[in-house]
Amino acid sequence: MNPRVVSFHYTLTDDAGQVIDSSAGHDPMMYMEGAGQIIPGLEKELKSLNPKDKKKIHVIAAEAYGNRDERFVLNVPLDRLPTKDLQVGMQFKIDQDPNSPPFTVVQITPTEAILDANHPLAGVDLNFDVEIISIREATAEEQQHGHAHGGDGHHH
Ligand code: ZN
Repeated sequence: MNPRVVSFHYTLTDDAGQVIDSSAGHDPMMYMEGAGQIIPGLEKELKSLNPKDKKKIHVIAAEAYGNRDERFVLNVPLDRLPTKDLQVGMQFKIDQDPNSPPFTVVQITPTEAILDANHPLAGVDLNFDVEIISIREATAEEQQHGHAHGGDGHHH
């Protein structure tokens, strides 16, 4: 059986009700099942839905962007950083491995900077308010590429 391509609108909030992201006013989000295009905890819950279905889905951090890993937090003396104009929000690659995540400056003290490579949503439980817009079978080309085409997905 071909995988399905699902498009849906969503509003994403944290447990405090703060809106993190929303597709309102944009094209719906689109993904091919099994392609890892959306977080696993959300895809699992969307599997059983049909077009026009609405659902509130709670995804724990471990099934969303993962738990925070304090090994990805570094205290670096200021004189070891390559810039004098250091600002919170700047990003650095710490090692040569192209797969390693960038570290973001999260705090600057008089002597050191605190760098964090955790995803900004690591450790955050997510609440998705979703509405399924359409579901269709993936095309041969999409299966070959391993992702959905069209919508606000991927264009060629
Ligand atoms: Zn493609």
